[in-house]
Amino acid sequence: MAISGNRIGLFGGTFDPVHYGHLRSALEVKNDFGLDEVRIIPCAKPPHRKQPEANAAMRLQMLELAIKNQAGLTIDTRELDRHKLSELTPSYMVDTLKSLRQDFKDASLLLFIGSDAFKHLTGWHQWQQLFDYAHLVVLTRPGFETQGLDDFFNARLAKDIKELAQNPAGKLFLSQVTQLDISATAIRNMIAKKQNPGFLLPDAVIEYIKQHQLYETY
Ligand code: ATP
Repeated sequence: MAISGNRIGLFGGTFDPVHYGHLRSALEVKNDFGLDEVRIIPCAKPPHRKQPEANAAMRLQMLELAIKNQAGLTIDTRELDRHKLSELTPSYMVDTLKSLRQDFKDASLLLFIGSDAFKHLTGWHQWQQLFDYAHLVVLTRPGFETQGLDDFFNARLAKDIKELAQNPAGKLFLSQVTQLDISATAIRNMIAKKQNPGFLLPDAVIEYIKQHQLYETY
């Protein structure tokens, strides 16, 4: 059954743990792009990086604590659910988008990725097909070069944000955002060194990490 919805943002990641860098940019894109919701999609088995420290259930619980009562931010567990069915399959984004497109037939789907991830996009499984199901919005830092984009990307490059609303999928858009200088790696390192990660992630998540003794030997 198709779920109604007009403009939906998608924000994937390992969230090991979720932090204010993720949360702030999810909220900013929701406002900047006039989205009905931003679906945060924790991955089960990231195909392109080392496996997460915290298990999937814990990463999900931390996300739930982090976005409690935050209107417009939701958690989409389809990658975790898929993994339960087939443990060996990596969380390929193209499969996720295909499945989202089945649920949201007419919506404009906007997949947000950081510029670092975009540099490696052509290594993603069936990367060209991502555009069959969603738009791709690259969150860039000041100074990001567009000249180097190859023909495939140039042909899809949208100059105006309105082009995204007019089409359900298929465009590439570059959006400058102020990224907070926070990474999950730095947080894991701080915890392992017994430093206080306060103000980098929600207190409820810090409390959860303490209770479950996560990242202490990272
Ligand atoms: P790690 O340090 O473990 O690699 P991370 O902090 O980069 O983790 P991920 O879960 O890998 O977090 O990232 C999920 C998504 O959030 C990615 O698209 C990434 O580009 C984006 N992201 C990560 N950190 C920030 C930040 N500080 N501001 C905005 N977006 C971020």
